[in-house]
Amino acid sequence: MIKVKKRKFLLLPGDGIGPEVIEEVKKIIYWFNTNKSLDFEIEEGLAGGASYDKHGTPITDEVFYKALESEAVILGAVGGPKWDNLEFSKKPERALLKLRKELKLFANLRPAICFKQLVDASTLKPEIVSGLDIMIVRELTGGIYFGEPRGIKPIDNGERKGINTHTYTSNEIIRVARVAFDLAKKRSNKVTSCEKSNVMEAGQLWKEEVQSLHEKEYKEVELNHMLADNCAMQLLRNPKQFDVIVTDNLFGDMLSDQASMLTGSLGLLPSASLGAKNKDGKMRSMYEPIHGSAPDIAGKGIANPIASILSFAMALKYSLNLDKEAKALENAVQEVLNEGLRTKDIVSKGTKEVSTTKMGDAIISKLK
Ligand code: NAD
Repeated sequence: MIKVKKRKFLLLPGDGIGPEVIEEVKKIIYWFNTNKSLDFEIEEGLAGGASYDKHGTPITDEVFYKALESEAVILGAVGGPKWDNLEFSKKPERALLKLRKELKLFANLRPAICFKQLVDASTLKPEIVSGLDIMIVRELTGGIYFGEPRGIKPIDNGERKGINTHTYTSNEIIRVARVAFDLAKKRSNKVTSCEKSNVMEAGQLWKEEVQSLHEKEYKEVELNHMLADNCAMQLLRNPKQFDVIVTDNLFGDMLSDQASMLTGSLGLLPSASLGAKNKDGKMRSMYEPIHGSAPDIAGKGIANPIASILSFAMALKYSLNLDKEAKALENAVQEVLNEGLRTKDIVSKGTKEVSTTKMGDAIISKLK
């Protein structure tokens, strides 16, 4: 058994089903500590509506500093109708945006994997999605969501004008493209870079910088450029042609949501947001399921914990380089699905419905 040095995780369960699914992640962390001699240290904090209710802010400085000090942040979900009418700066989602921005998490990794056991949950034909395994790398801290100038201003004849600015620098493009190429090398060695270079200068720069990085450092990886609208179409027509897709913040937002729905199951999909590596090769990172706080089912014990558990598997892989342990956890999830255990969101004829807790326990039993 290997012994690694103490690694600190900050768990932010958040709101709604967040605490329920993160509880299962916690059980798994304890299992690794007890059975694999890993020494993960867990800290917990409030984020989102839960933090607002207690402290009047979606994330306190104390929790934020804990995030800065930890190896990885594992988030449940934030938000819910209770906090919908708060002013912008107090909204639960501000916690997320602050963490992404201040931790400089510029690369968002969203795998879209179609589990063969759940192929019927997709709206596409089984032969199109069965065995699907793609990774979308979305640039997360630049582009039109952050560009200046922005705002709504009055113009002539009583009209108003909404302004957002789409900007990218060479460095912003190169650092996220590098993440995509490095990931591809560990997968099927293929990157598709998406932009709108036909109509946008920032898209043209995107294409040129990705191409030039490829020629300089990643010639061994297959690179294709694709217009983002074509990519949206190809994701429906023949999604298995893709391995890694890299794209900007806006297109990535949409393409990654589209890709996740190819798999038909929100409760199964993890995500990772990664920052730059420092001199020691360490980086800031945050892992979270792609689903929200699901207020409609919160407190009922029926939420699917698999997306959060697979997010923790991504943390093992990308932040701690514990590939073997990550694989063991992914395999445990597969085995449980093979046996026909399902939470309510994915239950179908011939399978057995289990609670959030039972699903967590079943996955742990397979790790043994
Ligand atoms: P949602 O993802 O919370 O729920 C959409 C539907 O999927 C619901 O019917 C829900 O019951 C179901 N669902 C989601 N996760 C599930 C799981 N693990 N197991 C079983 N069923 C699951 O999206 P929404 O309803 O649009 O948003 C609800 C709240 O979550 C909003 O306040 C929104 O702002 C917030 N939100 C937060 C995040 C985040 O924290 N990253 C992301 C998206 C939405």
